[in-house]
Amino acid sequence: MNIVNVGYDSTNYYVIGSGKDRLLVDVGWPGTLGKLLANLKRKGIELQEIRYLLATHYHPDHAGLVQELKNKGVRLIVMEGQADAIPALKQWMKPEMHYLDIDVRDNTAVTLGESRTFLAKLGIAGAIVHTPGHSDDSVTLVLDTGDAFTGDLQGESRADESSIDAVKKSWEKIRAMNTKTIHPGHGPSRPVPTA
Ligand SMILES: [Zn+2]
Repeated sequence: MNIVNVGYDSTNYYVIGSGKDRLLVDVGWPGTLGKLLANLKRKGIELQEIRYLLATHYHPDHAGLVQELKNKGVRLIVMEGQADAIPALKQWMKPEMHYLDIDVRDNTAVTLGESRTFLAKLGIAGAIVHTPGHSDDSVTLVLDTGDAFTGDLQGESRADESSIDAVKKSWEKIRAMNTKTIHPGHGPSRPVPTA
């Protein structure tokens, strides 16, 4: 599976797949569309080749550009459990950021149960699982190649008392899918941590 990191400003954004059905995992802060477009160009990817966008969770460095991308024809996948987090995103935004509020009426709702079938239509073998811990709306895309896109899910040693149970369960879920490599929202790709 073709995985291209088009990240900038200390956050990773991944383009997965090939041809005209590519999936973008996460997008940056409002006002950074130019950086994203420049990185896509540098890596030889046309914006028109990105059909869908998935936010691992609705924080500004992972979903701030969602509506700007939608306005350019990219469709947003809203996973089961994420809809409530979308309106809350604007609480992080200051007026000078010119954040575009996400229109919730025209997205593609996908349940966790149907994620594998949905991804298969894009030529991507894998599934999307609910992995709370960093936030309740966090999801992880796990490819059958053993690559997992974990967003900001923290390591078990870095979880505090309020999140440790959820974090542990999320990593158990990820490991149970034969994951070998994690591609986090920040920092380099690395082997999946052992329990
Ligand atoms: Zn976050």
